[in-house]
Amino acid sequence: MKGKLIDGVALAQEIKNEIASQVNDLNSNHNMIPGLAAILVGEDPASQIYVNNKGKAASQVGMISKVFKLPNDTSEKDLLTLIECLNNDSTFHGILVQLPLPSKINEDKCIETISPTKDVDGLHPVNVGLLVSGKPRFISATPAGIQQMILRNGYSPEGKHVVICGRSNIVGKPIANLLMQRLPGSNATVTLCHSKTKDLGFFTRQADILIAAIGQPKFVTRNMVKDGVIVIDVGINRIAAPERKRGYKLVGDVDFDSVSEKAIAITPVPGGVGPMTIAMLLNNTLKAAQLSINTNSFI
Ligand code: NAP
Repeated sequence: MKGKLIDGVALAQEIKNEIASQVNDLNSNHNMIPGLAAILVGEDPASQIYVNNKGKAASQVGMISKVFKLPNDTSEKDLLTLIECLNNDSTFHGILVQLPLPSKINEDKCIETISPTKDVDGLHPVNVGLLVSGKPRFISATPAGIQQMILRNGYSPEGKHVVICGRSNIVGKPIANLLMQRLPGSNATVTLCHSKTKDLGFFTRQADILIAAIGQPKFVTRNMVKDGVIVIDVGINRIAAPERKRGYKLVGDVDFDSVSEKAIAITPVPGGVGPMTIAMLLNNTLKAAQLSINTNSFI
């Protein structure tokens, strides 16, 4: 490996320590403890792990945290009723619904039912619109984490060509919208690629900062990047590893071994973007609690 390893675990811990201190201040000065409600429908093992980790992390920084576990056959109406109930419950400043939901439930409807002032995943159309128009409130946790990984490692997107692979609503689109803004920590020239992009390598080779979020194991190879690139690998893919007890291992969308020979800095998988996502979710929950003190600051 030639470049610097961007350590998401250490950075996430640094951010969580800062959040814990602000949670403490909020409690001392306003007698308020930020609360996070997480809703899980069904028994998908990966979703259970994600939700439990989020809840545990919230408790660790001193927040109130509750996971609402609903059976797989929960009706859309019952889920919407719970969300509305949590919207009106002042214990919880942040609400998240773990995705994906069972297919008979309309995800958009659920997201749109969460109060925009408690939407700590930043997926409600109001929060998406605020980001697009340059007034971000709750930025989706993964994009917010990516920006912090770049900035807190001493790099700046300003004036750089950021090439993003993937246009999902939770990663690709919001990170593009974030880094193109006329705002400190942004000001990049952004190219957004997807599965219909012709000659992907033509674009990725131009990247000063390459963000891969496509869900294809080790897809980005050495010949697709230029020397000195900064690489943020968002992908989390399971590949078979018979030598391991559990029979699989996690890899990113980037072929780490070959690309790290050319990169000036690169995130690992695991231990890169993943831990940052949880830290930034907590940051949004803290922000929701702080904003609730002065409700006039909500748009
Ligand atoms: P997604 O909803 O699965 O969308 C994948 C995107 O990649 C789509 O826009 C798709 O293009 C594009 N794509 C797929 N194959 C491609 C190819 N060969 N060339 C160019 N573009 C291609 O993605 P996601 O939810 O953003 O997740 C992406 C990856 O990040 C997954 O591995 C996921 O597990 C991981 N992830 C990690 C975190 C974290 O915290 N670390 C958070 C979220 C997601 P089209 O739009 O044309 O179909």
